[in-house]
Amino acid sequence: MESFGTVDGPGIRFVAFMQGCPLRCQFCHNPDTWNPQGDCQYELTPQQLLEEVMRYKSFIAKGGVTLSGGEPLMQPLFAREFLARCQSEGLHTAIDTSGAYCTPNALAVLDHTNLVLLDIKTMNPALYPVLTGARIENNLRFLDELQERGTDVWVRHVVVPGLTDDDHWLHELGRHVARYSVVKKIEILPYHTLGAYKYEQMHMAYPLQGVEPLSAARTQEIRQMLSAYKPTL
Ligand code: SF4
Repeated sequence: MESFGTVDGPGIRFVAFMQGCPLRCQFCHNPDTWNPQGDCQYELTPQQLLEEVMRYKSFIAKGGVTLSGGEPLMQPLFAREFLARCQSEGLHTAIDTSGAYCTPNALAVLDHTNLVLLDIKTMNPALYPVLTGARIENNLRFLDELQERGTDVWVRHVVVPGLTDDDHWLHELGRHVARYSVVKKIEILPYHTLGAYKYEQMHMAYPLQGVEPLSAARTQEIRQMLSAYKPTL
């Protein structure tokens, strides 16, 4: 849990990172969240988590609450009930998801979600499975579902040198999301190596060993390039 999050949606937010993820992104900096049965620090009911959130209500009144991960839609019943309780307290709600689940239960979470931070890992259908271990179809179908429901979206995109730092596919991302009125922003997230130590702690090989972080100058250039399609962050 993070009580003063400033990078997972608008304003100051309470962010809860949930355990479990079906993807295995090469650039993931939270591999400790992958295992649904992993080293949970907290096991809470929706009401217990809400009570934790309410301790910070005055700080997050103009921001809100974000469920992140891992993949929050891996625990859709919990997520739906928790976010419904947050909304009934007048809090703005967001989820950070890869869109890997298009199941009825996962989509029902959107009934109580004001904003979706949708990670689109790459628009390159050949690279997507290499990068994530999954197929691209659900990711894009999830965006269609959001458009149909009229749920606001910020698209998030991690740019990794040598993998997703590719003008052709970056423009493809811009062109694709430009067609969706629900997409309000594209957030460019420069690849960094801050999570590398976790792989070592978990006795796992770091998949992007030797890849340098994306420079601030290139990050800015990409934000400028994609601002032709949607406002960028
Ligand atoms: S979806 Fe997120 S948590 Fe899951 S592997 Fe990818 S980066 Fe990590």
